[in-house]
Amino acid sequence: MINRRALLRTGIVAGGLLAGVTSLGTAVFAGTAQQADDPAPDQRPSTPDQAWAALREGNRRWVDGTTTHPHQDAARRKEVAQKQDPFAVVFSCIDSRVAPELVFDTGLGDLFVVRTAGQTIDPLVTGAAEYGPAELGTPLVVVLGHQRCGAVTAAAESLHEHKRLPGELSQIASSLRSAYKRSGGDVDKMIRINTVDVVNQLKKDKLFAPRIAKGKLKVIGAYYSIDTGEVTRLV
Ligand SMILES: [Zn+2]
Repeated sequence: MINRRALLRTGIVAGGLLAGVTSLGTAVFAGTAQQADDPAPDQRPSTPDQAWAALREGNRRWVDGTTTHPHQDAARRKEVAQKQDPFAVVFSCIDSRVAPELVFDTGLGDLFVVRTAGQTIDPLVTGAAEYGPAELGTPLVVVLGHQRCGAVTAAAESLHEHKRLPGELSQIASSLRSAYKRSGGDVDKMIRINTVDVVNQLKKDKLFAPRIAKGKLKVIGAYYSIDTGEVTRLV
């Protein structure tokens, strides 16, 4: 009995202490957040064109070798801990050489990143892309294809040889069949065609279309060169 009561008392005391720490922590955090918030309205792009300009600038730094690695420190981690407000969605390939945060020189809380093999799309992936624009007003979606895409190459070979890829990899080839047919067997052309196809598909999305019509959202397609690091707009 005594033990239980003692435990209970300890619990109450601990609870009280915890509550004190929490409110203190909140007060300290609120102060920090307020200071960190001051420059944010100027920095965070709020229109589709501003967002694209910021990505282009970041990519320019990446190409030139003058990256600044913004928003990659403990202060930024604290700043976005309770709330995020990314300025773009980047939908790209799983390829290890095409990491959006790196090629656009961005950091924590800047981008929603969706990645699939050859940036192929299905309803689940569309839902992931919809989240930012629909729930948080993210103004830009970039579909990013890339040079020497292994997924697109494998799909092209499979379709050319009528040889089914193993496991669920065959789904990737199915998704790229239309682009393959229109590419005449040219893999680089197929990568670009597929990127534009995905852009057109997303533009018709029922959550995106009204936002695009109001000028609140743009969906654009781009191509990443593995050789130079440069992102070029396709559409
Ligand atoms: Zn790829």
